Amino acid sequence: MLAELETMSLDDTIARPRHPEKAHRPDQPVARKPDWIRVKAPGSAEFNKTNDIVKQHGLVTVCQEAGCPNIGECWSKRHATFMIMGDTCTRACAFCNVKTGMPGALNPREPARIADAVAKLGLAHVVITSVDRDDLADGGAAHFAQVIGAIRAKSPATTIEVLTPDFLRKPGALEVVVAAKPDVFNHNLETVPSKYLTVRPGARYFHSVRLLQRVKELDPEIFTKSGIMVGLGEEWAEILQLMDDLRSADVDFLTVGQYLQPTKKHHAVISFMPPEEFKSLESLALSKGFLVVSASPLTRSSHHAGEDFARLRQARADAAAPIG
Ligand code: SF4
Repeated sequence: MLAELETMSLDDTIARPRHPEKAHRPDQPVARKPDWIRVKAPGSAEFNKTNDIVKQHGLVTVCQEAGCPNIGECWSKRHATFMIMGDTCTRACAFCNVKTGMPGALNPREPARIADAVAKLGLAHVVITSVDRDDLADGGAAHFAQVIGAIRAKSPATTIEVLTPDFLRKPGALEVVVAAKPDVFNHNLETVPSKYLTVRPGARYFHSVRLLQRVKELDPEIFTKSGIMVGLGEEWAEILQLMDDLRSADVDFLTVGQYLQPTKKHHAVISFMPPEEFKSLESLALSKGFLVVSASPLTRSSHHAGEDFARLRQARADAAAPIG
């Protein structure tokens, strides 16, 4: 132990903050959660089995890294969402709890490990997401494609949903992921355009909308999906405009959930939307033509993703069926 310490630099012995870019920021007020935000505590036998499989394979999950409130429920159903390409993100969004900084090299064994974990968990539908990798020439697109290929080879019946970064300034990257034929391509807008500068400063709203539109142009068979958080100070009318923007891009599925503040250094919660307003948003979104909408305080992109995929398929089949 001593020898190990002696080889470490002074910097190594001082804990690095999880979000160095936020450390100097003033603390934000942390609002008390309303009664309607209640979650299942983690710790069931199935939860522990999921945890064991994740650990044995040396994998990272967004469930843990983002501090998702649904982890008790999802992991007790063996539904974990894998985060590929490391645990460190090159962006610094104001809402996100994922560690930021310069990530390490890609692990060439990760696709096989993910495929093995998916098989062991017996997943009918899997969601794969990643950190942003602005440091890589292709933003990690080829690695996404390798993960999709490895899962297909090992579990051909498993449907695959990817939740990708925006591949901003990575020409050709999106095409590589689409060519690997995920069943669902998800990319979250996260918030309305007026909030991008403060909430998602490294991204560009219309680039993200265009990314989703391009997926449909390249392969109309792939379902497209996007999600936002509410409670960041957005106006109701802005949410409706965002829905129209997504429908113009032919997006099939919209998720809307309540933003929850990870730490006092993150963006404050400006408001908690009551469940009945989520219901109104769901009805409005469906009336605008989305095939499926999930809107509730605890909705997250990957929450109930398997059940929602079955609803998506059914909704597309119903829409294509001849009338009468
Ligand atoms: S909602 Fe998604 S991120 Fe949250 S615990 Fe469930 S699978 Fe993980």
